[in-house]
Amino acid sequence: MPGFELLGEEEKQQILDVLSRGVLFRYEFDRERGGVYKTAEFEDAFAQRTGAKYALAVSSGTAALKVALAALGIGPGDEVITQGFTFVATWETILDSGATPVFVEIDDTLCMDPEDLKKKITPRTKAIIPVHMLGGMADISPIMTVAGEAGIPVIEDTAQACGGTLNGKALGTFGTFGTFSFDSVKTITTGEGGMVITDDEAFYFNASEYHDHGHDHDPTVGRGLEKRRFFGMNYRMMELQGAMGLAQLNKLDEILTRQRANKAALRQALETVPGVAFRRLPDPSGDTATFLSFFLPSEEQAGTFNTAMAEHNAGCIYFFENSWHYYRKWEHLIEKKTVTQSGWPFIGAHGSERLEYPQDALPNSDAIMCRTLVIPISNFMDEEIAKIKKAVKKAAKVL
Ligand SMILES: *Cc1c(COP(=O)(O)O)cnc(C)c1O
Repeated sequence: MPGFELLGEEEKQQILDVLSRGVLFRYEFDRERGGVYKTAEFEDAFAQRTGAKYALAVSSGTAALKVALAALGIGPGDEVITQGFTFVATWETILDSGATPVFVEIDDTLCMDPEDLKKKITPRTKAIIPVHMLGGMADISPIMTVAGEAGIPVIEDTAQACGGTLNGKALGTFGTFGTFSFDSVKTITTGEGGMVITDDEAFYFNASEYHDHGHDHDPTVGRGLEKRRFFGMNYRMMELQGAMGLAQLNKLDEILTRQRANKAALRQALETVPGVAFRRLPDPSGDTATFLSFFLPSEEQAGTFNTAMAEHNAGCIYFFENSWHYYRKWEHLIEKKTVTQSGWPFIGAHGSERLEYPQDALPNSDAIMCRTLVIPISNFMDEEIAKIKKAVKKAAKVL
């Protein structure tokens, strides 16, 4: 995951360039900034890298989801489908848009199960958000087929898989929108930041205007005289982030190369453990390799193995118990906890009920997650790899 490991001279030069021009705002001040627009440059570079027609930089990956939902016209009364294994931001933004999140199972890709997706579509479904979890890809082709047959737009939450591809095509470019995060622990980082990509001109303009208070960005008039088609918000990226993004994007291939090599070394060690199976990747060559995810045959064996790994200082992440990424542990969703007195967004206007979220709603996901262990991959981990390899050898004996 961590682009922060490669922060260096390139980022420093980019930041200093912005400071020397003295303009932190992404728009206007053409004379003062000497015609240099870092955020716009980052957008162009990102569009080129992914092959998308349009890229819009925003203030976070959460903002990217919010902007994409708004651009599609999602609101109260609509249902938006996502998976029960994702970061909370995915459903937070659905709730915040006024729509109702509907959760589907994951399968052995650790991403959306297309079969369960089919079952959960209703006449109110207005968008589907598959999430490319833990650096790998969802089985996006059957998901797109199901969505296409129902005529429902797809937003690919690609926050965890920047740089990933499926059969040579960038993740994030299969759906109507792809969204990305550049927060401080993502594959490339701008501290906080995100990106929305699309090939659809009309939806791009919706997104671009919504993310900037409705400004229509008319190049023939000054910003103060611009008009608006609808109200918006402020989800803008600033120039320091755009500059960082340019430097980090240049390092993306280096990051992927390092992570893939490190992941391959660890995978090799785990392949020798009886009973271990790996997460299914529809196209292994397009994996960003930020995590190595594997299954033990049972919950009990996953626990035994991980305890032994931890005894050798190489404990794995057990997302089944992780409160930020797995449905079963989202007590604030399940118990409808909110800061508002009215109960919004869990309770609708005039006390109307919205969906219930029983903790046991995703039995197939539970059955997979309780057996799943995950090792995070970084750029520089030679010593770490040696330590993990030793631990794997010892832990294999307790199975
Ligand atoms: C990180 C993340 C987000 C949110 O991105 P931020 O930039 O932290 O707001 C959304 N979805 C997923 C799957 C993420 O991992």
